[in-house]
Formats: sequence, structure tokens, C-alpha cells
Amino acid sequence: MFRIYSCLLCCSWLLCCAALLSAEPADRIWSARYIITMDAQRRVIENGAVAIRGERIIGVGTRAEIDRKFQAKQRFDSGNAIIAPGLIDTHTHAAMSLLRGIADDKRLQDWLQNFIFPAEARNVTAEYVRWGTLLACAEMALAGTTTYTDMYYFEDTVAEATKQVGLRGVLGQTIIGFPAPDYKTPQLALAGAEKFIQRFKNDPLIVPAPAPHAIYTTPDDVLKASRALANKYEVPMLIHLSETKVENDESKARRGMTPTQVLESLGALSGRTLGAHGVWLEDGDLEILRRRGTGLAHCPTSNTKLASGIARVLDILKAGINMGLGTDGFAGSNNGADLHSEMSLTAKLQKVTRMDPEVLPATQAVEMATIIGARALGLDKEIGSLETGKRADLIVLRMNQPRAVPLYNVYSLLVYSLKAGDVSDVMVNGRRIVRAGRLLTLDVRQVMTKAVEYQRQIRISLAKN
Ligand SMILES: [Zn+2]
Repeated sequence: MFRIYSCLLCCSWLLCCAALLSAEPADRIWSARYIITMDAQRRVIENGAVAIRGERIIGVGTRAEIDRKFQAKQRFDSGNAIIAPGLIDTHTHAAMSLLRGIADDKRLQDWLQNFIFPAEARNVTAEYVRWGTLLACAEMALAGTTTYTDMYYFEDTVAEATKQVGLRGVLGQTIIGFPAPDYKTPQLALAGAEKFIQRFKNDPLIVPAPAPHAIYTTPDDVLKASRALANKYEVPMLIHLSETKVENDESKARRGMTPTQVLESLGALSGRTLGAHGVWLEDGDLEILRRRGTGLAHCPTSNTKLASGIARVLDILKAGINMGLGTDGFAGSNNGADLHSEMSLTAKLQKVTRMDPEVLPATQAVEMATIIGARALGLDKEIGSLETGKRADLIVLRMNQPRAVPLYNVYSLLVYSLKAGDVSDVMVNGRRIVRAGRLLTLDVRQVMTKAVEYQRQIRISLAKN
């Protein structure tokens, strides 16, 4: 009996050794009760794990499968939690975080002309942008956003701050038809954008881009030059598009064309483009955008807070256009960067608009915040789902609190019940940047103290009016 037992022990030990010897090396294995993959089959894996080597995912499956296949240097089992792809914000203005709450409940033009533009003209420097971006990146990372899309000034500094925090950024250098805090003419801004693109073109975390502000603020020749610049370096062009009714009405009255038709007539959509908002798109516009493969950013909090309208998200998606989710920044239009509430609001707005609770289900809202957002940015080969070969951008959401119980459907839980504060751990490009709700890459207290100092400075500057 003893001999049989010791023989069995010996065999299992040998099998174990053989398994270890044949196991592939991994740097980390993260496991949890559920893995939402957002792969083509939309697999949700119970008792799942993700294996990571360097910057990339090398395996996704059940814990047992991953354990058999990989031998990891570090393991992290988050237990009763969900691991999901990092969320993708397709439109924001990070450094505007320093103006959060400066003037709410105003009309867009009043807000811009009397508060934002004067505050920016008197305060925005590269150093201001650095602190504002750090504050925004801290907030985004802690809320589970792993990729964000920015349109602002001093974008070199934005890129440096983004890398410091460890987020992925599609960062657009603003090009606008009036003197801006960084460049006094659009020609200088174009030249600056080109240098910025050259500097960060091959960066693993940064996709640099030219960002002409909108058709009503950027001259036609500058829009054309922005397109040419984006195509020269094979990077996307970012622009605000059909955000308000006024923008559409004026475009049609002055030029007999919608903003989309204006861009098309200039050849400005002939390349990868991300248009923010698209609230007032018409049927003909959808046909142009579909044909051009233009991506869109839906920003429901901004569009409701500024009373811009409700985008035709269902029509847009049905037309085959990739529309991701955006927060549109930190001041006035949103006051935060929580993609969880954007997912929830996106679903609810379409339901109430159509008076039909079956449209835009939770699954589709999660798609928009992940894989569709990645497609809109032209990055779906790299991010947007948890699949072998993709960049290791993943988040963990805790389920050990009352609002996570009971659990019938993980997508419903993610969209309608969990909050940004439930994000506990975040990895971007294979690097863990949040552990147990704490940002590892930044002294957040120092950044918050600095933000309060800027608040004092901004107040004084506006009092001089
Ligand atoms: Zn915007």
C-alpha cells in the first residue's frame, strides 16, 4: 500500500515538474471571479485569468488553463472581482481640470467668452498644463480609464505628464484660428504640431495628433493643412464636429453645407479622423462618415449639461460608424471623467429618446467604452479587448460591496450598478499603475495641493476684469 502511494506521489511530482518545464514564462498572471474579454465572441470567463509578458497579453482563459500553460513571476488574484479591458475615453480636455466648477449652469457662449477664455488667456502656461493634466490623469486612472483622447494646448507637456502617470493617450495639439496660449497663429501651431508628432510618433503610450478645433474656429486652409499633416505621419486628426445646433445652422446658412459636408468638400475626412460629439448629424452626414471610416466620440454628460442635444447614437451605430464614449473634460461640460456614468447615461438617453427600454442594452454600452472606442481611434488591433497579442491594459472592479450583490449579469452590474470608485487595480501597457485604489505613479496629495494654489491664482486673475 505504501509502495503504491509513494509511486503515485512520485508520478504526480514528475507530471508537475514536466508541466512546469513545458510552461511558458509570463511576467504576471491576474485572476478574478469574472473576466469580461470583449473579444469577438464576447466571452465572459468565470474563474478566469490573464497572463502578461512585457507590454502584452499572452493568454486569456480559465485559471486552470492559464495555470497549466504559464509560469508567472508574479501572481495577483483579486478574488470576488471583475477584470475588464481598460476603459477608453475618446474625447476630453485634461488640463481643464484646474477650471473645474469655475462657472457652471451657463450658456455655452457665456461660459466660454466670460470665464473660460479669459481664465485660459491669463493663466495657461506649460507648467499649468502639466499640473492640470496630472490631476486629470490621476482621476482617470483611479476611475479605470486606461486610454484617453485629449485636445488642448502645450501637448508636449500633456504627453510628458501622461507618461509620468502611465496612461495611454491619443493627444491632439490644438490648431485654432486665433492666438492661443501656446501658439499665436495657426501656422505656428501647425509647425508645433509637426514637431510634437515627430517627438512622440513611436512612443509606446502616446499617439500624437493634430487637432484643429472645429470648422467655425479654424480656417479652411488650416483644416486642409491639418489633414495633410495627419496623413504625412499616419496619425489621426481630432476635431469637434456638429456639437451644437447653432454650429449646424450657421454652417448651413453661410455655406449651404453641414459641418460634415464642409470637411468632406475640403478633403479633410480623407484619412483617420475622430469627430467629437456629432449631436446634430444628418442622414447625409452619416453616409459620408461611414464611407470615410470616421470615428465619433459620444459625450452624453457634456451634451446634456450644456443642453446641446442628444446624439442619434442608435442610427450612427446602425450606419456602421464607430462611436466611442467621451467625457469632454473637466470644466463646465462635465466636471469629471467617469466613463461608468457615461455608459449608464448613454444607454438611458437612447431608451428615453426612443421610448423603448430594449434599445442600447448594457452590453452595447460596454462595447462603446472599450472595443468600439478603440476602433473609433483606429487602435483596435492594440487595445479595447482582452485577447492574446493585445497591449496589457486592464482594470479590476471590486464586487465586495452591497451594490454588487446579487449578480445575475456582469454587463448590467458594470453599467448600472458599479461606480468609478469600485475600480481597485489598473494596468496599462503591462505596468501596474493602481493598486488597491491607490495610484502608484504619482504623489496625488502634492498634485491636489498644487490645484488649490492654481485656483487662488485663477480667482485673482479673473477679479482683475
Ligand atoms: Zn470638447
